[in-house]
Amino acid sequence: MRKKTRKIYVGDVAVGGDSPISVQSMTTAKTSDVDSVVEQINALEKAGCDIARSAINSIEDAEAIREIKKRVNLPLVADIQFDYKLALAAVENGCDCLRYNPGNIGGSDKVKLLVEKCKEKNIPIRIGVNSGSISREIVDKFGGVNADSLVASALEEVKILEDLDFRDIKISVKSSDVNTMIDAYRKLSEKVDYPLHLGVTEAGPLYQALVKSSIGIGSLLKDGIGDTIRVSITGDILEEVKAGKAILKALNLRTDGLDIVSCPTCSRTTVDLPKIVKEVEEKTNGLDVSSKVAIMGCPVNGPGESKEADYGISAANGMGFLFKNGKTIKKVKEEEIVDTLIEVLQESKNNEN
Ligand code: SF4
Repeated sequence: MRKKTRKIYVGDVAVGGDSPISVQSMTTAKTSDVDSVVEQINALEKAGCDIARSAINSIEDAEAIREIKKRVNLPLVADIQFDYKLALAAVENGCDCLRYNPGNIGGSDKVKLLVEKCKEKNIPIRIGVNSGSISREIVDKFGGVNADSLVASALEEVKILEDLDFRDIKISVKSSDVNTMIDAYRKLSEKVDYPLHLGVTEAGPLYQALVKSSIGIGSLLKDGIGDTIRVSITGDILEEVKAGKAILKALNLRTDGLDIVSCPTCSRTTVDLPKIVKEVEEKTNGLDVSSKVAIMGCPVNGPGESKEADYGISAANGMGFLFKNGKTIKKVKEEEIVDTLIEVLQESKNNEN
């Protein structure tokens, strides 16, 4: 069962409580390059992302937030490393959340000033601890970079904010080591009721990142821990969103978009099934449907699988049979399979409306 956390709002996206688990990603263009950032955020939205984050490294970046916000729908988190003046400027310019560790500010009056500003504008703060950012003192106290030192570091940051009566918080304790990350979030979840942002940090290139994130984020979600997620990938940011959505879908935590069940092919396959599946994936990206489609490479398993799914395709010898709830509804040529499926999905969507 999902752990009940406090609900906070990042723009109009609720995080925590009973709200849907959201998917996040981060822009890679320089934030002051407004056109490029807007383009990236709008592409993220189209891919199904719920919250975008951008790094703020200069006053130009912070000021760009105002213009970016006019041209995007997604809430924007300003990611700031040390400079509290940049944090203040990001809030002034309309960011929807700060990712900032108050322990980095260096001075309680500065923290107070920032917290007052966040309260005034209803801006939550994400405390983001990762294995590279734990203080030397805490590392020594807990015998190294481990789950305990990650949690202690996060709690130290939480205390700074709670002492100023600020509780509009979400927390991440990311590690590039999957076991450490899982342990840290489990321990943290027992100690706080703030919403948790899950992620394996620096997870690597696509293939490794998918495996690490599926295990790390997936195990925690299965435990009922986690309110928002980011799959970190060295590569295309849209893949991060696809991966995040796929993890949620695999656990039935998100139902929007197409869930594709497809066979691995074997010597019985007589059509170009990988091409058909790829085309379905690409052409249905952004389509407002929430169905499960089974795509099989022979007539044997198609009808059976389609009983479990909403739709099924079995393709063989240049032909494709389209099933709905186990019954054949169309028979088309191999090259017409994908478009026919999309037509059927759209028809059923129109009938729903
Ligand atoms: S569904 Fe048919 S083609 Fe696909 S792997 Fe199974 S037996 Fe082979």
